[in-house]
Amino acid sequence: MTRPVYVHDLDALAAHVRSLRDALPHRVELLYAVKANPEPDVLRTLAPLVDGFETASRGELRRLAEVLPERRAAAYAGPGKTDEDLTAALAAGVHRIHVESPAELRRLGALAVAARRPARVLLRVNLPVAAPGASLVMGGRPSPFGMDPADAVECARRPPAGVEVRGVHAHLASGLDAPLAGAVAADVLRWSVTELGATEVDVGGGMAVDYLRPSSRFDWAGYGRTLAGLLDAHPRVRLRIEPGRSLTAYCGAYLTEVIDVKRSEGVWFVVVAGGTHHLRTPAAKGHPQPFTVHRRRGATGPRTDGGPVTVVGQLCTPKDVLSRSTSAGVIGVGDVLFFGMAGAYAWNISHRDFLLHEPPEFRTGDPRELAAEWSTRPIHP
Ligand SMILES: *Cc1c(COP(=O)(O)O)cnc(C)c1O
Repeated sequence: MTRPVYVHDLDALAAHVRSLRDALPHRVELLYAVKANPEPDVLRTLAPLVDGFETASRGELRRLAEVLPERRAAAYAGPGKTDEDLTAALAAGVHRIHVESPAELRRLGALAVAARRPARVLLRVNLPVAAPGASLVMGGRPSPFGMDPADAVECARRPPAGVEVRGVHAHLASGLDAPLAGAVAADVLRWSVTELGATEVDVGGGMAVDYLRPSSRFDWAGYGRTLAGLLDAHPRVRLRIEPGRSLTAYCGAYLTEVIDVKRSEGVWFVVVAGGTHHLRTPAAKGHPQPFTVHRRRGATGPRTDGGPVTVVGQLCTPKDVLSRSTSAGVIGVGDVLFFGMAGAYAWNISHRDFLLHEPPEFRTGDPRELAAEWSTRPIHP
């Protein structure tokens, strides 16, 4: 049995980000939200292609400093920043600290005065925007993230000593298609300029990745046209976006091998090595993870009848499901399953110590080549 493998296709990642960068107006600053995938190879590949990195913990700051010592973080965000976090962000010379509450702003001001370093901040505002159909909406309803618009206006009007308020940060929803993301950006920009006089606006990430329709991609060209129009209307504003998932999701694959197939009460189960402790994305998002099957040469073991299957892993819990009721043709023991779209919120969000199974391996390159080669290996070496 071969250990499951994550393969990051760094060439595909670079090509993808280059093409979406080309679809955006020059003036839009593109930050990468490190939390989507903080693998060193991913950060190194993105470094020349993005304007900066959005970090949301001291761990991410440290990772960035280790992997790209010459790059300061463009942003430090996240709820529940401790004094130690804020001090570290000041010491690291983070370009903008995204502040989540009036109390956090006061603490940051006091620390900045003590450190004799002004803190340049964006206020994270929880604005009411219309985003029907988005998968995760955080704006305009009670939220642990950001501050109410009235509090932000007050903070901007009377900032504490040590703090320079430069503008607004909003990350209001995820799963936004391009028209929705454009509408959200327009709403955020309008509010920030008229109510706060902002000169910098970060409209967040959340651009949709459609796991049910892998070939349907976020319309970066359409989104770019919308942003170009907004920049024309606000020529003095610096506009930022900070996507994570939509940059890296397509450039990671998780490959594993079928251990067993069986029928239970009329349902075919395919049991693979690994599972959601390696790839938690489908469990976290509630979708079937898309996959293709590489038939194993010389396989003689049991196989399904070609009907729908439920693919499960090695964990002793019924929640360890990678894909439910999916039609993928005949699947047999030894076949290699290729789970694409595993480049974001995948290994790094997985409960890797549950049952103390071995971790997957990690490689870079073209995952299809590896799958093709793997499917020719002897089944029981
Ligand atoms: C998670 C997060 C992002 C990235 O979101 P994606 O859905 O991965 O694009 C951006 N900004 C903030 C504040 C976040 O919390």
